[in-house]
Amino acid sequence: MEFADNLISIQARIAAACTRVGRAEDSVMLLAVSKSHPPDAIRAAVAAGQVFFGENKIQEAKAKIPLSPGQARWHFIGHLQSNKVREAVELFELIQGVDSLAIAQEINRRAEPAAKTVPLLLEVNVAGEASKFGYAPEKLLAELPRLTALPRIAVHGLMAIPPFSPFAEKSRPYFRRLRELKLQCENILGVPLPHLSMGMSGDFEVAIEEGATIVRVGTALFGERVSSLRRTETE
Ligand SMILES: *Cc1c(COP(=O)(O)O)cnc(C)c1O
Repeated sequence: MEFADNLISIQARIAAACTRVGRAEDSVMLLAVSKSHPPDAIRAAVAAGQVFFGENKIQEAKAKIPLSPGQARWHFIGHLQSNKVREAVELFELIQGVDSLAIAQEINRRAEPAAKTVPLLLEVNVAGEASKFGYAPEKLLAELPRLTALPRIAVHGLMAIPPFSPFAEKSRPYFRRLRELKLQCENILGVPLPHLSMGMSGDFEVAIEEGATIVRVGTALFGERVSSLRRTETE
């Protein structure tokens, strides 16, 4: 299937999920996860009307973004190492997946000379999986005041990747936990956090029912990725 056809079908499913729970269709941002796909694929996606794209490797993004149409807007959705923060701040308009004070401090430091405020989402390891990155919920709540005190970052919400399952409903309790955690964060901060980034090709409709404002969809839009890149997702 062509990207354009896939996009129409995913948009319809997003709209239907919103309707089921009484949400406005435009309350969900579709982030097209383009990792492993070449600039030609981005061009076709932009031509079909897609605006937001997600990449999880700095090296790959650095090569790809300059070759992609200028209308495309980019989120970093991978695990960020401190030696890659400077480039991430240059390449991406939002960094999803910040999971330590040290990385947040480094983003803050790199944003200063660029005269930027960098929006970011904090990643939560919702199932306490040893193989996954992300804050333990208690640690996140404890560190939140120090994170939000950094002047050049703006915490816009939370993101999570629940344990893989072929059954979308298995993700629901984790999505619900992330939404509850966002409420706890809002109570601590006294301000609303706009974003919950959760849901991928297999479970984005359940995520929307549980309050996702950003769904990160790769395979269902672009088709299968090459296997070497799929393997690195769980590293
Ligand atoms: C690869 C990836 C996705 C997209 O996964 P699909 O199952 O292909 O939709 C979403 N989020 C993150 C963080 C990813 O690394």
